[in-house]
Amino acid sequence: MEADKGLSRLHRHEMEMMLALNSLEQATGRKMAGEVIFPHTGRDGVRHGRMAFEKMQRLLAPVEQMCAGSEEFRDICDQFGKHKRALGETWREKLAIDAQARALWRPLEDELLRLVNAVSSREVQRSLKNTESLSEAADYIVWSIFLFTLGVLAFLLVLLLLLRRDLLRPLVRIAGNLSRLRDGMRPEPIPAVRITELQEVVDIVPDIGGYLGSLRERSCRLEEEKDAYARMSLTDSLTGIPNRRALDMRLADLAELRQAASLIMLDVDLFKIYNDTLGHQEGDSCLRRVAQAMRDGLRGGDHELFRYGGEEFAVVLDGVSPEHALQVAERLRQTVEQLGIPHPGSPAGHVTLSLGVAAVEVLTPETLPRLLEAADSALYSAKEHGRNRAHLAGELVKKSACLAAGDRL
Ligand code: GH3
Ligand code: MG
Ligand code: MG
Repeated sequence: MEADKGLSRLHRHEMEMMLALNSLEQATGRKMAGEVIFPHTGRDGVRHGRMAFEKMQRLLAPVEQMCAGSEEFRDICDQFGKHKRALGETWREKLAIDAQARALWRPLEDELLRLVNAVSSREVQRSLKNTESLSEAADYIVWSIFLFTLGVLAFLLVLLLLLRRDLLRPLVRIAGNLSRLRDGMRPEPIPAVRITELQEVVDIVPDIGGYLGSLRERSCRLEEEKDAYARMSLTDSLTGIPNRRALDMRLADLAELRQAASLIMLDVDLFKIYNDTLGHQEGDSCLRRVAQAMRDGLRGGDHELFRYGGEEFAVVLDGVSPEHALQVAERLRQTVEQLGIPHPGSPAGHVTLSLGVAAVEVLTPETLPRLLEAADSALYSAKEHGRNRAHLAGELVKKSACLAAGDRL
């Protein structure tokens, strides 16, 4: 309050002194107040105000000197001096009041500062506390994540071990047993498995083994039966020698090889009479004996005997000359004759054969029918010439010959 009153008085004296100064400038015609700065007296401007006051004193010093040495402007100078002194006093009072105010203000300021510091330290402590609790929370989260990850890893490890024990190992054993079954071996025993479905698979493996075993047996039997049927389809049921189908296959094979071949066609003479006289059973028996004897006679050579049909037979000779084929035919005729099977209707008194021989230098699928035809013609020729003889066909080979009973090669 005092400071405010002092301040208004100060302003008033400043104004009055400025008016006096202006009057002096007008009277003297000199510029004297232009640079005068009146001190500011705000609370924060105390130091600045003191300096401005001192500066004002210095600036006004020439005015005072001029007034001291002049009587001409005495009144105005007196006014100026009066207001300057009043300003100086007011200013000193103002400084004293300000000093008092500062003295009063300082404890308050200290108290405020103390309060601010206290508040600040509490805030800092609270912040520190907050920071600590945040740090603890972060630690907790990090540890939680770490422990959770550790737990998951441990769980996965245990799961892996369990899978290995309860799933992979049994599966490997099952696979091993299936491989053994595939290779025809007995499956190895597998320890009990915890997984029920897998145990069912384990249990079924021996059954599969048994089933595979029986399948293998059946397959083997079927294979044998197939071989037997194949043999049967190529074997004559009465005599046990290869049949007409086997002969056709053999000739076709030889034709593929394109090499020299000979064919002997053989026919039991007057067999109808034999059959009609002695009966069909006796006829069968005769055919069996004749076939057996001829097969024994050919044993050791490459020549194969076939039953062509009825009481007719055939011998295939590959890679031999027509002469050699004729010799073989003659040997067969003698073999049957020497059996001495009584034949009531035969002029010889026993069972005899007629034989036709044909040969070709290169047997091919084209020459094969002609070879058969030629051998048949030679056989017909042997029949025509009195039976019990072997004739060599002259169609396919240039050379022709006739061998009759009693002729010797
Ligand atoms: P040829 O000297 O001219 O050959 O006179 P063949 O009587 O032998 O000839 P034919 O063709 O007239 O008669 C053949 C006979 O052979 C007719 C048939 O009774 C008999 N025969 C054919 N196959 C069999 C058979 O498998 N078993 C029996 N027992 N007889 C058969
Ligand atoms: Mg016949
Ligand atoms: Mg006959």
